[in-house]
Amino acid sequence: VKRIGVLTSGGDAPGMNAAIRAVVRAGIANNIEVFGIYNGYAGLVKGDIKPLTNSDVGGIINRGGTFLGSARLPEFKNIEVRELGVEQLKKHGIEALVVIGGDGSYMGAKKLTEMGINCIALPGTIDNDIVSSDFTIGFDTALNTVVDAIDRLRDTSASHARCSVVEIMGRHCGDLTVWGAIASGAEELIVPEKGINMDEIVAQIEEGKKRQKKHFIVTLAELMTDAHELAKEIEKRTGVETRATVLGHTQRGGAPTAADRVLAGRMGAYAVDLLIEGQGGRCVGIRDNKLTHYDILEALDLPRVFDETLYNLAKQLS
Ligand code: ADP
Repeated sequence: VKRIGVLTSGGDAPGMNAAIRAVVRAGIANNIEVFGIYNGYAGLVKGDIKPLTNSDVGGIINRGGTFLGSARLPEFKNIEVRELGVEQLKKHGIEALVVIGGDGSYMGAKKLTEMGINCIALPGTIDNDIVSSDFTIGFDTALNTVVDAIDRLRDTSASHARCSVVEIMGRHCGDLTVWGAIASGAEELIVPEKGINMDEIVAQIEEGKKRQKKHFIVTLAELMTDAHELAKEIEKRTGVETRATVLGHTQRGGAPTAADRVLAGRMGAYAVDLLIEGQGGRCVGIRDNKLTHYDILEALDLPRVFDETLYNLAKQLS
């Protein structure tokens, strides 16, 4: 393989830049020309494609977001639209692609492979919701952002003896909330895998009151219930003044942590190795700290296993 492309797609995540940098530098080190495709599949279809040099990806390892831009293009599900993308690649002599994104982007990569463009997908999302990898690029950074935010909320909650409901991202995956709850010492955690048990939350706060606790942190995964309504309900039932904070998109930004940069570097270089081997339609994962790869369709079919031990630990240590 002589020419490859790299693109970021779907929701952005800190560490995507580090992954692009790794693909470019590992490619060039193997005498492969690397092209940046701007704005995901949308830019692919439009032909927004430029060659990248080692210096083009200098000074980005520490930057959040993705300098290539990301976009959503639902029409990419249509073969006629994908054909436009394939034409653009052929025009530039690009034979294979590295796609950095979430599971939607993985499907696009699989379908492009079926059309003759070998694609390797890397897990780039803060949600950690890609089952074929223990960790996704961006998760550790978002987790640190969550913990920093909760530390701050704890200061002010404790000063006023208030309860804080903190809404955390993760789509339908509770990992960011579970890890965030453990790392911040939250009193309660509410995750989609377990549902909401109001009586348990109230009992936990009542128990804390008896111990003269000065603050209560209730972490809540997004898309489960309205954080402000939950705060009202807690206040009504416990008499403890309660405020809600929705962390929102702050969780998606910021300089990637060292762990995310290293993960992105390892995965980016590994993707190039797989393309050199002639692999396509595969996605990279990390399992027990070893890089591995799966067929994309098999990966998307893997059942999600919720880490009960970690969840119980969060409960036990609260
Ligand atoms: P993420 O990759 O973060 O899960 P999306 O689900 O929005 O984000 O997917 C990103 C993009 O991947 C979509 O905008 C679309 O262009 C492409 N995509 C998603 N699903 C498919 C599919 N079934 N076939 C082809 N392309 C898809």
